[in-house]
Amino acid sequence: HAKELGRHNAQFFTEELNVAAAERLRLECELRIAIDEHQFELHYQPQIKPHQAPNSPPEAMEALIRWRHPERGLIPPIHFIPIAEQTGLIQIIGQWVIEEACQCFARWKAHGVGPKRMAVNLSASQLSDPTLVEKVAEILHRHGLGEDELELEITESTAMDRPELAIVKLQSLRDLGVSLAIDDFGTGYSSLAYLKRLPIMVLKLDREFVRDIEFDDNDAAISVATIALAHILGLRVVAEGIETEGQSRFLREHGCDLLQGYFIGKPASEAFWTATWSGQAPEPRHAARPEG
Ligand code: C2E
Ligand code: MG
Ligand code: MG
Ligand code: MG
Repeated sequence: HAKELGRHNAQFFTEELNVAAAERLRLECELRIAIDEHQFELHYQPQIKPHQAPNSPPEAMEALIRWRHPERGLIPPIHFIPIAEQTGLIQIIGQWVIEEACQCFARWKAHGVGPKRMAVNLSASQLSDPTLVEKVAEILHRHGLGEDELELEITESTAMDRPELAIVKLQSLRDLGVSLAIDDFGTGYSSLAYLKRLPIMVLKLDREFVRDIEFDDNDAAISVATIALAHILGLRVVAEGIETEGQSRFLREHGCDLLQGYFIGKPASEAFWTATWSGQAPEPRHAARPEG
């Protein structure tokens, strides 16, 4: 009987694997089309100083990629970035992201409305790309941006994936003059000894700790300690995922340098932000409204 069941399970398992493999193949195919047909877009989410006036240009904007699929609508990065990573397509997509984000930043600057910095997320394979630094330098130069106007965000797990490589790569990006942030800090098992060796300027406190910050003593303690640690090391702290007034107040009162989250501002299109900062009502039919 057990044998029978085992065989059954194995069969079921194989079938499931085939379905998963087919789905991945289809996604990969569609991703290639998406690249050719320019189906990606960036939405931008503000990072503000605790006492910043509403609707004024923020310290930084973070570029977040979306896939506008012709049939399935707007697809969030979690559903395609991992496949893009596994297939190497992230090289092309990631470079497009840097290019587009810098272009957008340059347009805001030309309008005189923009933020001080543009933050862009970098994946592990981009970090291993031997030509990354050159590419970044070339894009910044072409759009007339200062190196310190770009901030690259690397997740703690990406940095820990190949720690020694990360240190070398981040150092050469730092030498170029771009700002570096560790994303999702507190979720990736890095040691303090390692952290000290990274030439970073910013820690992004993961939203995991922010969620219950007002009610969970451990989350509150971790957040307060992270802010203290960062400041001792000379780093700024950005808190992610702030959804309520209470979370915002807590972080403000505990010296967090920058705030980010739906409560501060949801990711939205370039056009939405341009209109907001120039005191115009964004056009409702422009697909320019914030998400969610
Ligand atoms: P991340 O860099 O940590 O970005 C924060 C994510 O949290 C974003 O999700 C954002 O929309 C979401 N978020 C912001 N505020 C709140 C909030 O108050 N509550 C909640 N529940 N969520 C909030 P998104 O855009 O789906 O991106 C997910 C992840 O995908 C990003 O995490 C980043 O790791 C990755 N990603 C996004 N864009 C890119 C890209 O251009 N390149 C690469 N390599 N990765 C990207
Ligand atoms: Mg990020
Ligand atoms: Mg993050
Ligand atoms: Mg996160």
